[in-house]
Amino acid sequence: MTVGESREHTASYYAATANAATDFPRLRGEHHCDVVVVGGGFTGVSTMLHLAERGYDVVLVEANRLGWGASGRNGGQLIDGFVNDDRIEKRFGKSAAEMTHRMGLECRNIVVKRIEQYGIDCDLTYGFIDLALRPADVKEFAERAEEYARSQYPHEIRVVPKDDVPKHVGSKSYIGGLINMGNGHLHPLNLCIGEATAAIELGAKVYEQSRVTRIHHGEKPRVDTDTGRVHAGKIILAGNAYLGRTEPKLSGYVIPAGSYMMATEPLSEALASELLPTNMACCDQRSALDYFRLSADGRMLWGGLCNYSGRRPKNIADSLRPSMLKVFPQLADARIDYQWGGNIAISINRIPQFGRIKGNTYYIQGYSGHGVAPTHIAGKIMADIVGGDSEEFDLFARVKHWYLPGGKWFANPAVALGMLYYRIKELL
Ligand SMILES: Cc1cc2nc3c(=O)[nH]c(=O)nc-3n(C[C@H](O)[C@H](O)[C@H](O)COP(=O)(O)OP(=O)(O)OC[C@H]3O[C@@H](n4cnc5c(N)ncnc54)[C@H](O)[C@@H]3O)c2cc1C
Repeated sequence: MTVGESREHTASYYAATANAATDFPRLRGEHHCDVVVVGGGFTGVSTMLHLAERGYDVVLVEANRLGWGASGRNGGQLIDGFVNDDRIEKRFGKSAAEMTHRMGLECRNIVVKRIEQYGIDCDLTYGFIDLALRPADVKEFAERAEEYARSQYPHEIRVVPKDDVPKHVGSKSYIGGLINMGNGHLHPLNLCIGEATAAIELGAKVYEQSRVTRIHHGEKPRVDTDTGRVHAGKIILAGNAYLGRTEPKLSGYVIPAGSYMMATEPLSEALASELLPTNMACCDQRSALDYFRLSADGRMLWGGLCNYSGRRPKNIADSLRPSMLKVFPQLADARIDYQWGGNIAISINRIPQFGRIKGNTYYIQGYSGHGVAPTHIAGKIMADIVGGDSEEFDLFARVKHWYLPGGKWFANPAVALGMLYYRIKELL
């Protein structure tokens, strides 16, 4: 939790339009269960639901509110892919890369299946377009389209030439696009709460405003909050960028970086369909990228400004507006109704980190900015490992990760410098 942040949701568009506000009790007294999950974002909730579906007795303990962290604040862009498969192939061989490729497809499918199975009302809309700012992006799109065709990718893929960009994005900024009709966008907080509701109906228990302050590993695993304890056969740590010093061993492996969003007032139908006529989720290809889409009530949801220094901008909207107006000068007079930020956990090699601490505690963290879909396969893998076996977990647990002694305070300047290097490379 960032110093000074409230235990209630940040004042985001999502919190203002949630289907329901959650108000689960604080953890008090002694509790016993098969598995205790620490953290109620997509990782924790997805794990809880996978476990509840398999009949485990699960307790989830959340420091603030369900979806309070990145899961309730993000761009809502549902994008498949788990990890860079080429990197996995170089290090672990072809069959490992095939496995991560399958995981990349499955993570998106889990989200879609759950929305259907549990009737979750979260504005799921298909259609995603990657946008090109440079000729190198256009070349890469052509290569990716070929790769999709070779791998018999199951969803419609279309390369968009420069002249056709305005059919999808009413801006002069882009020189090409790559459409993926399997991906899309949704209301992330409503998805998170909807999945938690499904798990609770299957018997899982949730405690909110209950920060875990101590973890007891070993033969008799237990987590403590200020007012209660949960004794469990296994512990799953799902605090990602917000876990802080709860498990000091983990904090040096990820760097919490800020990403920021704002929502305009609802736009007129004419303006909304001039800006994004096909209502797709959009991203450019830079390392510090702009990402944007329309909300169900016709607002422009604009995100970007990834900040690796750990410093939050004084005024988020003032900082984001110039990039939005560069792309869409048509929004010069649009009022900004909401502005907010959240933390993502960066893993230096961009590979999510799975591992085990002293026998019965498992963790997953470090999605590095792309987590709506990946957290869902991560939850499945966590449920598999609780059951005793997961090939995927074993593969990822073998990946070596950089440890940055001193945690985020020493690490962030180093990452800021690294990102500067990539930005300069992009400019050149
Ligand atoms: C502004 C923004 C935009 C983004 N846009 C996208 C996007 O469009 N598409 C995409 O795929 N990804 C996006 N991401 C990334 C994505 O949101 C994350 O990767 C994903 O939500 C991580 O989920 P999580 O459950 O692991 O972590 P979180 O959602 O951060 O949840 C962690 C939870 O753990 C709790 N917690 C921590 N410590 C404790 C403790 N000691 N005791 C109890 N509870 C604890 C926290 O309160 C928090 O609720 C974005 C992220 C941000 C911040």
